[in-house]
Amino acid sequence: MKIEQQLAALRRAYTARNPESSARFDSATAWMPGGNTRSVLYYGPFPLAIARGAGCTLWDADGHEYTDFLGEFTAGLYGHSHPVIRAAIDAALDGGINLSGHNLLEARLACLVSERFDSLQRLRFTNSGTEANLLAIAAAKRFTGRGKVMVFKGAYHGGVLSFVGGHSAMNVPHDFVLGRYNDLADASALARECAGDLAAILVEPMQGAAGCIVGRDEFLHGLRKLATDAGALLVFDEVMTSRLSPGGRQQTLAIRPDMTTLGKYIGGGMSFGAFGGRTEIMDLFDPRKPGYLGHPGTFNNNVLTMSAGIAGLSTVFTAAVAVELTARGDALRERLNAMCRRAGAALRFTGIGSLMNLHAGTGDIERVDDLAPGDADITELFFFHMLEQGIYVARRGFVVLSLPLTEADLERFAAAFAGFLARYRAVLQA
Ligand code: PMP
Repeated sequence: MKIEQQLAALRRAYTARNPESSARFDSATAWMPGGNTRSVLYYGPFPLAIARGAGCTLWDADGHEYTDFLGEFTAGLYGHSHPVIRAAIDAALDGGINLSGHNLLEARLACLVSERFDSLQRLRFTNSGTEANLLAIAAAKRFTGRGKVMVFKGAYHGGVLSFVGGHSAMNVPHDFVLGRYNDLADASALARECAGDLAAILVEPMQGAAGCIVGRDEFLHGLRKLATDAGALLVFDEVMTSRLSPGGRQQTLAIRPDMTTLGKYIGGGMSFGAFGGRTEIMDLFDPRKPGYLGHPGTFNNNVLTMSAGIAGLSTVFTAAVAVELTARGDALRERLNAMCRRAGAALRFTGIGSLMNLHAGTGDIERVDDLAPGDADITELFFFHMLEQGIYVARRGFVVLSLPLTEADLERFAAAFAGFLARYRAVLQA
């Protein structure tokens, strides 16, 4: 059977299995365009409605149970009901929310983040990674007095800063120059063309949304030098990669960016973003200074995020736990890739540590343009197969480990993947 037919059969079975999700989706379309308020969560024929979660388990509206191997696209590092996070949120609620003032928590979280991520000498909080990147760009332009921002095709820095398919009509109107990821010669040529007007190079040390495409060490080190030589700021978007070592990917690489943006799990699973870096750059936001940059943000210091974030970083996701999680993820990815090779399947997982993505083909993937033409079909096949096996991953083949997953859960994942390789052997052959 051809892959289209296999996919059609999986979609039919999915539809038959999920009448309640289907009905909820249909009724939601009356109030929300396409029944959706978060584009990444949509897939056809209709997305699952998730009713609740506990630990690393999810239940959908039709009562099916899934082991969560998506972890809220990395924001759900602590799982759905970690007792320490829960207690921190309860404590914040006991003290009252929306306090209309500096509170007792924000500086503590800032201190914890700065201690972990060494290059963030000063930082500020936002509500999302998108906002963090918007503010980092604004700061870089003001600090350098320049106008252009280098980004890379395949990058995702937020809903209005998306370059996954090149330029997007949704993007904010900065003067972006778009380079090829993992191509230092191209970046150098672009920097020269900017002729002294390059404010920043904004880069993900691993492109997440593009499918866990790893930035090569030489490329990222090269960008550090390039930015310095050009008088531009190097901004690392570590919204996804900050979890990969105690001090983020920048620590592993021994690269000190001028600014870094963060998001996802650092707020303990509450809405979160942060941007920070060298003191003299961040001092642009010092309200004691004339002409400072304003960044008011009603929810920047909301106590739920601050409290959950403090508890998470100080007692749960310690440096040792970060190292261990990355090792677990590396071991799982290598095991899955060995299974692909043994099965003679033209497939492999890219990624680092607890972040991985299935892709069609076996060649190197340096940038989005290297993805095989059939990539989306293969990841969809994988996605619907894993759902049938009670394992929840992203439609694009993105797999994320969170802390509550046990060794038994990883074994179940590997067994379900072995089933995938066997069931679709004919269409997956190298
Ligand atoms: N940067 C990266 C690297 C991301 O992965 C994301 C979210 N997936 C963002 C920025 C945007 O973060 P948010 O969804 O919190 O706005």
